[in-house]
Formats: sequence, C-alpha cells, structure tokens
Amino acid sequence: MANVYLKKKISSRIVTGHPWIFSNEVEKTDTGISDGEIVDVIGSDKKFVGRGYINSKSRILVRLLTRNSGEEINESFFLQRIRQCRDYRNKLGYIENCRLVFGEADSLPQLIIDKFNDYFVIQTLALGIDVWKPAIVKALNTLFDPKGIYERNDVPVRELEGLAQQKGFLSQPFNTRIMIHENGLQFHVDLENGQKTGYFLDQQDNRKAIRNIVKDAEVLGAFTYTGTFEIHAAHYGAKSVLGIDISENAVQQARQNAELNGLEKVCSFETANAFDVLKRWSKEGRKYDVVMLDPPAFTKSRETIQKAITGYKEINLRGMKLLRDGGFLVTSSCTNLVNAELFFQIIDMAARDARKKIRQVTFQTQSPDHPVIRGIENTQYLKFLIAEISSN
Ligand code: SAH
Repeated sequence: MANVYLKKKISSRIVTGHPWIFSNEVEKTDTGISDGEIVDVIGSDKKFVGRGYINSKSRILVRLLTRNSGEEINESFFLQRIRQCRDYRNKLGYIENCRLVFGEADSLPQLIIDKFNDYFVIQTLALGIDVWKPAIVKALNTLFDPKGIYERNDVPVRELEGLAQQKGFLSQPFNTRIMIHENGLQFHVDLENGQKTGYFLDQQDNRKAIRNIVKDAEVLGAFTYTGTFEIHAAHYGAKSVLGIDISENAVQQARQNAELNGLEKVCSFETANAFDVLKRWSKEGRKYDVVMLDPPAFTKSRETIQKAITGYKEINLRGMKLLRDGGFLVTSSCTNLVNAELFFQIIDMAARDARKKIRQVTFQTQSPDHPVIRGIENTQYLKFLIAEISSN
C-alpha cells in the first residue's frame, strides 16, 4: 500500500473526522502512485490516519473512505457500505424513493446514488470513486435486484478530476421515463434527461410541510421544475395554483404530472423567467395567498457568491410584495455556499426593502436521507423556510 505523509501541523478538521486531505496538508507521498489509487494516510507521529483514494489533479489530494486500518477497500467494502446506507434509510422510513448514498455524509466521498423504487441513478464525481463503478453496480444488483441502473455523470465537476462527462445504462437498457409515488401523489421522472438525477428527492418532506397553509389559497410557485410543490399545493386543497419555470421542457412535464394526478383544472404552468415576471406582476398589483420559490444555486463558487445573494434577495423581495397581507412565503436555497445565517440575512434584507414583518412558521433542511454530518459543511446545504408575511 502506498503512503501519503501528513505535515506535522494539520488541521483539526482531519483529526475530528473530515474525509478530505488537501495537498498543502501533505509533507510527502511515496513515489509511483497513480491517480485514482487507494493510499494510506499517515500522520507525522507515524500513526495511521485513514485510507482513501488519491488524485494529484485535485486540490483535495486524498478523500478518505475509512479510518479503520483493518478495513480493505475492495468489492465487499462497497457491498457492506451500501448495505449500511440502505439499512439507515429503511430505519428512517425512506424505502421506496431516497438518496441511498450521499457522498461524504455516507463515508463514500463523491458517490451519489438515488433510488427511485426499482430504478437507480448513479453519479461518480471523482476519479478515485469512478474506478469502483463496477463494484458499486454489483453491490446494487446484490442488494436490490434493480429493474434498471442509469449513470448521470454529465456533470462538469468531473472534468476537474480529469474525467469525461457521460451518461448511459449500467444495466440492460430500460425505459428511462419512470413513475414514482410521493406523499400519495404520482410523478413522472425522466432519469435520462431530467435535471441532476431526474428528481429532487431532498425536498420530499418539505413538500409535505405546505399542507395547511395552501388550503383554499391562490398559490404562485416559481422555479417549479416538474411541478412537484405546485401539485402538492393543489392536492392539499389550494383554490388555484400557477407554476412558472424558464424551461419549456420542465413546464411540459409539470403539466403532465398535474394530469397524472387529475389536478390539471387547479394547476396551470407557464414558461417564464421568474426575475421578469415576479417583478412585472408585483408592479401590476397581482396578489397571492402563498408564494413558493425554489431557485437553483445561482452560484457554484465562493467568488461569485455576491451574484447569488443579489438573486436570492431580488426574488424574495418580489415574492413578499406579491403576497396578500398575512400570506405565506415558502422559500428555499440549495447552495451550501449560502449558510443558514446568510440565508436569513438575505430574507431580512428583502423584508426590510419590502417593509414587511416576518413570522417564521417553519425552518427545515433537506430530508434525512441526505444526512447532515456535523463538521462536514457541504452536507448541510438546503434551507427551507415558511414564513407569514405581513405589513410592518
Ligand atoms: N421545485 C423543484 C426544483 C426546482 S430546480 C422541485 O422540487 O422539483 C430549479 C428550477 O429553476 C429549474 O427547473 C430551472 O429550470 C428553473 N430556473 C432557473 N432559472 C430560472 C429563472 N430565471 N426563471 C424561472 N425558472 C428558472
């Protein structure tokens, strides 16, 4: 086994269990190590720190898979880990659909597996985990007897690892337009061409959280994607629901999902840029009882964080202005670069500009099948707020 030796002064992050070793934390590495290989990380006291995969092309030189020196990284390691992931989800009640593996939060760095009943979507976002794809697929076949496995590695971050973007079948080909159940509703999911892995499972509990506030309400949802929040609103008794998304394709799928649930009379969808229409409609004096916002990340890097802040503030400000007095804002942010504190600062700024008072109803994160590990910041990424908005 090749070794990587840490500097004497290392971050307490590593000591307390964080799985990343940055290249500037390493004193020296054995010669002849290939990228993607499994290495042992050794402390300056010569003690074993952990075992993981290496990539010299990445700023994160090693990502640890285990802290147990007796644990070998082989096929049975992946079988055992994925079994643990399944058992944990089952215990929490996430059985039919769930994020089965959530990378670092499951000690399987850069591996994402979403389970949609009998279908599985995989992302291997680093070289060192990508080389284990056959073992991962084998483990899924052993544990679940899947109807289909699909690879959604069409993700730019792979290029930083020297990997190509790609997607395709990891099982016999199958119809990638599937249907799932959530909270008593049905949704079409396009595993091949949908966004990310096809469906945003992380909001599954948050969609339930709108149950009481949408009753008899006129609801506006922006960034609707395939209409999940909007269709929940209609199902929970909204009087009318309008969903908007910039993607024509998403809007078409949202309409199909409304029909699938017999809610097409209550739910309508339009293709529009939220930044344009929220502003225009609030100037025109349109009013709703509930406004729901679930925007994309707006930024992927710390350098452009200001852009995201400006975007979030703008849509929340417009959302608040579109509400009747005492209406409810349902607002999310899915980037870990905006932490909860900053998220509330943005909401407060928007409220100040809109001259509104905020009464917090609920504040949640992603559903627990996307576990949060204390100390691994990017595992806690979703902010979901429901607030009552009234005049100051
Ligand atoms: N609420 C959805 C997920 C939303 S993902 C769910 O729970 O499934 C974010 C969506 O915002 C994407 O569908 C994307 O097409 C859309 N989007 C991005 N920029 C937009 C804009 N400026 N106006 C409207 N929609 C936008």
